[in-house]
Formats: sequence, C-alpha cells, structure tokens
Amino acid sequence: MTVVGIDDTDSRERGMCTTYAAHRVAERLRSPDGGDDGPSVAGEVAAGVDRVLLVRLNPAVEHKTRGNAALAVHTDADPDRAFEAARSVVAGGARTGDDRTNPGVVVASGDPSDVPDTAATFAREAVRDHHRIDDAEALLAETGYRAEGWGNGRGLIGALAAVGAWRAFGGTDGDWTYEHIAYRIPDRRGTPREVDRDSVFAAADRHYPAAWDTVDRVEGEAVCVPHTPGPILYGIRGDDPDAVRALAGDVESEPVAATELFVTNQGTDAHLRDARIPEVAEGRAYRVDGVVLASPKTREGGHVFLDLADPEAVESVPMWGSDDAGIASPGEAPIRVEFTGDEADRLQCVAFEPTKRFRNRVRTLRPGDRITACGEVDDGSLKLEKFAVRDLRTTEPATPECPDCGRSMGSAGADQGYRCRDCGTSAPGKVTEPVDRDLAEGWYEVPPCARRHVARPLVRGGFDAPTHPEW
Ligand code: ATP
Repeated sequence: MTVVGIDDTDSRERGMCTTYAAHRVAERLRSPDGGDDGPSVAGEVAAGVDRVLLVRLNPAVEHKTRGNAALAVHTDADPDRAFEAARSVVAGGARTGDDRTNPGVVVASGDPSDVPDTAATFAREAVRDHHRIDDAEALLAETGYRAEGWGNGRGLIGALAAVGAWRAFGGTDGDWTYEHIAYRIPDRRGTPREVDRDSVFAAADRHYPAAWDTVDRVEGEAVCVPHTPGPILYGIRGDDPDAVRALAGDVESEPVAATELFVTNQGTDAHLRDARIPEVAEGRAYRVDGVVLASPKTREGGHVFLDLADPEAVESVPMWGSDDAGIASPGEAPIRVEFTGDEADRLQCVAFEPTKRFRNRVRTLRPGDRITACGEVDDGSLKLEKFAVRDLRTTEPATPECPDCGRSMGSAGADQGYRCRDCGTSAPGKVTEPVDRDLAEGWYEVPPCARRHVARPLVRGGFDAPTHPEW
C-alpha cells in the first residue's frame, strides 16, 4: 500500500480546491489514460484506490483558506509512481504562483494503519493544536517519506497530517463519515451553479438522518451547494456512503463532470478537547463546564455574549440568612450566584449573528444555569458551536407578597427586609418564585447553515445527554 498526502493547493482568489486535486490524483492512479486529468502516461498500469480521506485539521489555524482540509489517497500504486502522479497534479493544477498557496505532497509506503506513532501523533495534534513547518520537516527526515513542498512548504504540515490521520483516528474502527462531492464541468466554473433547489430539499428529507447538513430547513438554504467559486457543484455529507450517493443521484442539476466519495472526520468533533476554564488557550477548541454568571447580552451586529465561570469559582449564596431570625419568612431563601475566582476562571462565550436561531437558545440562559460549552477560543472568547444544559435554575428572586392581603410588600429600608404597610406583616428579603424555562436539559447546536465542517451534528448521536437537533 501507499499513502499520498496532499495539502494547500487552493487559493481564495482563484478558487482551486484540495479535494479536487486529490480526486485528480486518484483518477490518475485508477486510469492510466489520465482519467479526467488529460494526457495518458506511457507505460502506466491501472492501480486500485481503497479510499480518499478528507481530514479537517485545526479550524483555528490562521493560514487556512476556508475549511482547513488535507487529503490522503490510499492506493496500491507503487510509491514512486504515486509520488509522480501527485507532483504532476499539484505542480500542474495548484495555484503555486499565489503566495498564500504553499502546496505539499508527502508519500509513505506501507499500510495507512501502520504509520509510526510519531506520524499518528502529528496528525492528532494537527487537528487540535498548531505545528510549525520545522516540526513537519523534522518528522519527514525521521520517517524518510518522499516529500515535496512548494512556496514556503507550509502544505507539508497538512500533507503529513493527512498521511497519519487514518491511524490517528482509529482506522477501520474509527468514527468516519462520508462526503460525496460532485464536480463541475471546467467551462462552467465561475458561473452561477444550476442546482434545482426543490430536488435538493426533497432528496434531503428522503435520506435524513443517514445524510445530514444537506439543507437548512428553517433558513431555506441548500447548504450542500457552496457559494464560493471553485470546482465543487455540491457535497453531500452523512454517515452512510450509500445514502450520500443515493441522495446525490436524486439531485437535479447541470451536468456533473466527475464525482468522488471521501471518507472524512467531518461531523465528529475531533477538534474538541476537554478542559477546565482556567486551562483554555487561544487557537484551540474545547468542551468546558461552566456556570452562567449574568444574563446573556446582545450587542451590535446581533452577536450574543455569555459570561461563564468555572464551577469551582462560583458559590451559591442565600439572599437572606439566620441573622434575620424573628422576621416572618415565607418560603426558602433565594440564591444568588457569587463569583469568587479571578480573571482566569471566567470565559466569555459568543454566539455570532450567522448562528441565527441558536442565539435564541443562548439568550434564554440565566445566571446560575450550569452548562457545557463547546467551541474554539479566539481573541479571548469561545465561539459557541453547541452547548449542553446540565442544570437549569427553575426559581428566581421576587418581592414577597403579604400573606394577609396578597399585595406586594414594600422595602422596609436598607437590610431591613420587606413590610406590608397596611397589615404590618414582614419578610426578611426576596423570596423564590418558580420560573418557566423555555429550555430543557441536554444539547443545543448551531443550525446546519452555520455548522463548522468538523463539528458533530446532534443527529449523529453519541452525546452524554438528551439532544435537541437542528435540521
Ligand atoms: P480549502 O478548505 O479550500 O481546501 P483550506 O482551508 O484547507 O482550504 P489550506 O489552503 O489547506 O486551507 O491552508 C491551510 C494551511 O495550514 C496548510 O498549509 C496546512 O499545511 C496548514 N496547517 C493545517 N493544520 C495546521 C496546524 N495544525 N498547524 C499549523 N499549520 C497547519
């Protein structure tokens, strides 16, 4: 077996795409006549391609063009031939003249499940952390893999991570999903895509939930059709390769030039690590437990901000106590959340405007609620992708009512509690009142139109609490 890793062949301005480069390498290996990639290569024989792997690396990496994708082709082709095929596709098709595009090709001989520990660890860290080009070069020297980098060689990081990813994420026992990508005829690229919307929505319903994130039903958006220029007509994602293929077959559209089925880590939450709030760092993505400190605020642009604290830095303080003895005490004392930590124990979370209706879920949170928040930490804030309600406050402080006349009591002065002026009854302070919460325990997520490639849709299951999926 041979593993061919490729990355960074695309450019924002000119709209190439690394999935397409990998597809062309796979075609070139499968079809000695060049497949859809032009001229035949004398003396080449057809090789088998077991799978094409689409790996989403750390979404926080600043150099990414869009979704930080790296690709690996698993083939039985001879490593030298595979290397030549990948080099010629990348050198011929990639935008190597664009100084933001720095392609890399890495070829390993052997089964993708047998790459060394160091290559698997490199791949795992590429999804959750940051590497330097030096790290990739050192590992290439150690493994002796064939490699070529263009530009500043940054693409070698992703290409190497793609080589190690199959083993890093469990091989055949791993949590893999699928994407069926349909590519456009070259002459049509750059023109508006002709995809029949109704056929997409009908097909999405037919194959849900085996295929997910095809459309956003509330926003009325066909999320499987990209907006940016490039060779992709649409990409259908799901858990079942037959379902994504069948769904694509039901879509009415302009003619399709070629298709490829990718095995991916999309929709797996592979980027998240568990941590406590004081441990979080920039440029990484987390799953953290916290207590809501204040009511969420909507700021300019419609972004919703939420102040979260480490549970160990919060105390629940009764709003009146035993030294108030002697005063009538209707009901139990309400609780106030008191923050006892320092700056490192707080984390601002944000649901940005494009997360649409998800913001209403966040707005419904109240001080004292306990949640688990997931997302990437950027510029000091956690960009919410999903959250789980662990414990909801079902009461809130309220002004007491007079037990005799039923009217609201008035303040009896600073720290004097409340009094009914008419009846003379008193109460030591605020009382608790039940509140209706428009939120239940369990997981809430951003809608499909705002989903990050690597974020796990709730409909996939595997969560530790009930789920409230968006579709
Ligand atoms: P597209 O989604 O259109 O395929 P992209 O978002 O995948 O584009 P790339 O052009 O591949 O973006 O650029 C990402 C660059 O960042 C690549 O050079 C890749 O090697 C590098 N990179 C990826 N992950 C890491 C990481 N964890 N640390 C450092 N560099 C990384």
